[in-house]
This record gives sequence, structure tokens and C-alpha cells, in this order.
Amino acid sequence: MAEFTMELSDEQKEVRDWLHGFAADVIRPAAAEWDEREETPWPVIQEAAKVGIYSLDFYAQQYFDSTGLGIPMAMEELFWGDAGIALSIVGTGLAAVGVLANGTEEQIGTWIPQMYGDANDVKVAAFCSSEPDAGSDVASMRTRAVYDEAKDEWVLNGTKTWATNGGIANVHVVVAVVDPELGSKGHASFIVPPATPGLSQGQKFKKHGIRASHTAEVVLDNVRVPGSCLLGGKEKLDARLARAREKARKGGERVKNAAMATFEASRPAVGAMAVGTARAAYEVALEYAQTREQFGRPIIDNQGIAFQLADMRTSIDAARLLVWRASWMAINGKPFTAAEGSMSKLFASETAKKVTAQAVQILGGNGYTREYPVERMHRDSAIYTIFEGTSEIQRLVIARTLAGMPIR
Ligand SMILES: Cc1cc2nc3c(=O)[nH]c(=O)nc-3n(C[C@H](O)[C@H](O)[C@H](O)COP(=O)(O)OP(=O)(O)OC[C@H]3O[C@@H](n4cnc5c(N)ncnc54)[C@H](O)[C@@H]3O)c2cc1C
Repeated sequence: MAEFTMELSDEQKEVRDWLHGFAADVIRPAAAEWDEREETPWPVIQEAAKVGIYSLDFYAQQYFDSTGLGIPMAMEELFWGDAGIALSIVGTGLAAVGVLANGTEEQIGTWIPQMYGDANDVKVAAFCSSEPDAGSDVASMRTRAVYDEAKDEWVLNGTKTWATNGGIANVHVVVAVVDPELGSKGHASFIVPPATPGLSQGQKFKKHGIRASHTAEVVLDNVRVPGSCLLGGKEKLDARLARAREKARKGGERVKNAAMATFEASRPAVGAMAVGTARAAYEVALEYAQTREQFGRPIIDNQGIAFQLADMRTSIDAARLLVWRASWMAINGKPFTAAEGSMSKLFASETAKKVTAQAVQILGGNGYTREYPVERMHRDSAIYTIFEGTSEIQRLVIARTLAGMPIR
């Protein structure tokens, strides 16, 4: 039995400090510029690629940290630098995880390198699941994939929305319906290779925050991809569909939802991003409160300000502990009997929104301007309660898990 410790290993501290250095020296100084430009910060991604942060190897190393803390520590530090730029750096990971989770070894080896490119020619990838009428309600998805047996090709038609890196990606991973009778169990994921005819970018969204991260619609108009682009392969899909049909025929049987278990394991990473943004805003507010003087003394000497900072720090530390617990559970294969992954994302994202709003307040008029970063952090933080499942959906998942109810 391993001894309980809250102490990070020397190796973990070294990685954390290295990431913090990159966030402080490269990401943070570029944050305001790319927020204003509302464009993908290619030069910063390239810098990240040069030092090895933008690569599958780096994420794999962090992912396989046996304590589970590698990914949350990385996310916290990068998002401490800036949320929009950090999402541009880690966004490709969403698509890569889709391939790692469902793809064959050959698919992993073929497509993941093309998602990242290399330091001289960086590429990004997109994961396209959400649709205009299928956000929280993933089962309402309409994008259809039909198999053309004669040509051994899949034909994809539909419109995806909110895709991070959508349209600018070298490789798109697209979730589509292969059997409409089966709801979310009739979905499958496909690789759309670079320059495939029929895939185009629709509207690029002008956003409230994380404006350096590209978010757009992706239109699929008779997109033909080879049979080998079905993640996991046809045989595995047919077997999975047959099992789902059998269960549907028996009716009412409660089955463990594998997709939910995946979300429980991935949601703490989003919680860690929120912790990074919250910590960044808290640090700016603390320093400001110590140096800004009114009525002849630093404003932190007022309990009204000091208590806010005490609450901010307490919530951030509590959020981090929930994130670390869920990440530890995920790597150790512990069952999420109380939806602890969703809990961590819910609490951390709500904390980021609250803490960044308090930071704006503590900076007074300056907090409301783009001269100081808390205004941007406040705008950025609003995304955490929306993507990877809204706060309402997290509460729904936690409540249903506690009640022993099925989650679809
Ligand atoms: C910047 C950004 C980047 C994104 N990146 C990606 C990406 O890369 N790939 C991808 O596939 N998707 C992505 N998304 C989509 C994101 O996951 C969805 O926006 C999210 O799942 C919510 O869906 P929706 O926007 O359709 O909201 P809706 O589902 O329409 O929800 C609207 C409101 O209703 C509430 N609501 C819905 N159902 C219930 C219920 N049963 N009970 C209580 N309240 C409910 C919601 O909580 C929310 O408050 C991104 C979104 C944004 C904004």
C-alpha cells in the first residue's frame, strides 16, 4: 500500500516549473495581443512545439504519470499563462484523445503525427461532435455517415458547430450517426484526412473570451473517406452495434455507459484549466491589493478586501484538490460512484467565474480595462461552465449518479 502524501515528486516539480516558465515568458506576454487579434497564435504554438510542449509525446508522458497529476498540473500552468492561447496549444489533444481512445494502432500511428505536424510546420486538429441542435443533448446528433460498400468508403453529411480549430485543422475527427435507431450508441467517429473534398469551414465565431482560440462551424457535404478512416474499424463497429441492438431489443436493461466513464476521466482536465485562470486572476488581485493605497493605506488592510482574497484562495485550493482527486481516481481505475470527475469540473469552473469577477472588483476601474489582465481572465472564465458539459449538465450527472439513475 503506497504511503499517502500530498508532496509532489522532484520530477513533477521540475516539469511544473518548466511549464510555468514557458507560460510566464512566452504565453502571458502574448496574451493581450492574440485576444485582440482573435486569431490562432501560430508563432506561440510553434514555440511550444520547439520546446516539446506541443507534441503527443509530452501529453503521453503527463498522462501516464502514475499519480494522475501530470495532466492537471500541465493544464493549470498553461492556462495560468492565458486561456485562449493555452487552448490553441492543447486543443489538438481533444482530437488526439478521440483517436487514442477508439483508434487502432495503425490509425494512431498514421493520424496523430499529422495532427501535430512538426516544429517547422505545425498543424492543429479538431474534434467535431456538437451540432446546432445537439449540444448538451448529444443523442440528437444528425450528421450521418453511410457506408458505400462497393467503394469501401464512408459518406459524411451534416453540419458541426463550435469546433475548436474547425476548418483550420489538418485532421478533423468527426462523430456521426451510423444507426439512427440507437441514439448515442449508434454513433461512430471518423478521421477526415487533410484536404478532403466536401469539408469546409462555416461561420467562425466572434467570442466573449478565449478569443485566441479558433471556434467555427464545419460543413460536411458528401465527404467521402476511406473505410480505414472509421476509428476502431468496421468489424468492431458491427459488433458494438449488434450488442446495442440486442440490449435495445431486451429493453429497459441498465447498462454502464462507457462514454460517461470517459467524461468523468476527462472533465478534471477542464477543471484544471479553470484553476489556472482563477489562480492567475487571484495573484493579480493579491498584488494589486497590497500595493494600491486609498485612505492612506493599502486596500488589503480593509477586511472587505482581505476576506475576499481569503475566500478566493480557499476556493481555488479546494477546486484543485477536487481536480487532483478525480485525476488520481481516473489513472487508478477507481469507479466514479459519486461522479467525482463532474464534481471537480463543476466546482472549479464556477470558482473561476466567481474568482475572476472578484479580481475585477478588487482592481476597481483598472480591473474593468484592458490595461490589466483580469478583464480578459473574467471573460475567458465563462467558457469553463459551458464546454465539456455545462454546469447544469454536471449537476444532472452528479444528481443522477447519487440517485442511482441512468445517465444517457
Ligand atoms: C468556445 C467553445 C469551444 C467548443 N469546442 C468544442 C469542440 O472542440 N468540439 C465540440 O464538439 N464541441 C465544442 N464546444 C461545444 C460545447 O461542448 C457546447 O457548447 C456545450 O456542450 C453546450 O451545448 P449548447 O451550446 O448547444 O447549449 P445547450 O445544450 O443548448 O444548452 C443551453 C442551456 O440549457 C441548459 N440545459 C440543456 N439541457 C439541460 C437539462 N437537461 N437540464 C438543465 N439545463 C439544461 C444548458 O446547461 C445551458 O445552460 C465548444 C463550445 C464553445 C463555446
